[in-house]
Amino acid sequence: MMKTCTTIVILLAALGCSRFGRAQTVDSPYEIGVWRGFRTAAVSFTFDDGTANQFSKAVPLFNEFGFNLTLFTVTRSIEYGLPNWDVLQNTAAQGHEIAAHTLTHTSFAGMSDSLQTLELRDCQSDIDSHISGQKCVTMAYAFCVTGNKSLCAQYYIAARICSGVIEPRTPRDFMAISSIICGTEGSVKTADHFISRFTSTVKSGGWCVLLLHGVDDDGGWSPVPSSTLRETLEYLHANPNDYWIETFGNVARYIKERDAASVAEIAATDTDITVRVTDGLDDAIYNYPVTLRRPLPDGWASATVEQNGQPVAVQVAEGDSVSFIMFDALPDAGDVILTKNGSAGVRTDDQAITASVLRQNYPNPFNPVTTIPFELTKAGWVRLTVFDLRGREVTTLLNEELASGRHSITFTAETVASGVYVCTLQGEGVLQQRKMVLLR
Ligand SMILES: [Zn+2]
Repeated sequence: MMKTCTTIVILLAALGCSRFGRAQTVDSPYEIGVWRGFRTAAVSFTFDDGTANQFSKAVPLFNEFGFNLTLFTVTRSIEYGLPNWDVLQNTAAQGHEIAAHTLTHTSFAGMSDSLQTLELRDCQSDIDSHISGQKCVTMAYAFCVTGNKSLCAQYYIAARICSGVIEPRTPRDFMAISSIICGTEGSVKTADHFISRFTSTVKSGGWCVLLLHGVDDDGGWSPVPSSTLRETLEYLHANPNDYWIETFGNVARYIKERDAASVAEIAATDTDITVRVTDGLDDAIYNYPVTLRRPLPDGWASATVEQNGQPVAVQVAEGDSVSFIMFDALPDAGDVILTKNGSAGVRTDDQAITASVLRQNYPNPFNPVTTIPFELTKAGWVRLTVFDLRGREVTTLLNEELASGRHSITFTAETVASGVYVCTLQGEGVLQQRKMVLLR
């Protein structure tokens, strides 16, 4: 009996199962962005207790930059003030998140499970009954004190504390997501403080959650000057490829969808590709798109994309050696169709080939199939060979006469061990090598 259990545990670990369901499986050559739009880091601004200038100053400022924030709302405390539901509904309609901050703003320390249930459940139902167009799925503990996390998980997909650290790309505990206290009482007071936290987040590729209360002189705890907030948002706005700014709830949705997503290419012709994106999660809650990309198929200049018959914005992004098509897809919301849009040969921005060159293979690392692109300035005999690091030939992929232009060849490393390999292109006036990593 013991033995059977052990075997099962090992099997689950090997399959990468998590307690949130299935693990990510993505068909080559697709990739899912760690963050939306393949940005490097995620940042969420969360405001607690509904102080006056959050509505009169912070929300308009965030609107000006096109960023969404989260308002953690206490729903039945006389001390903290009852919510102005009209203002909150208006704020929600602009894309901001109205989330829970308990019924009465009482610490969960020592509180019975039945009272915690009341605080968690009724705060959520208060918000859901007053705010339309979104669902209340996240909460912030009063005074950052956690209670019974499994109770909390019955109502919420993520809950916020304030342990002052930057979360990794997948948090260890969604019922205790860290945030960093801002303002006069916190460690982040100036725009420089904000920016240093942001640059750390880019280095780790993680998620920075900021906790704010008062803005200027509205009487809220640990106030932040609105001028500091403006400087901070200007910095983020100026670095759009690094930072994804989104509500606490939407980042939590994205992470769980990303980590559970399955991306499968289910049909392909020369001009159309069908991709299926599923996540097995509850679609009533997990309704946020994830970003996918893949190299432009051979001969395609760009693509149009639609999901379930609706057009989807598509971006052609130039990587180091390959062009990607990047688009959002909503898991479980119908097949995604990529359609060829123009031929590579008639691409207006296509640059003339000025040198014969061996490009980096993609994907890299790969398992077991990868594509090796190269360009030739003139026609001639070409040899493309793969060696191991000790110089032993693994395979010859090409040994023939080719026309000038762009070429690519697929390498399938079915019977080859994991490791670093060297691809060598030899031809008239060209001898180039690139390293490739096979990771099984
Ligand atoms: Zn509070």
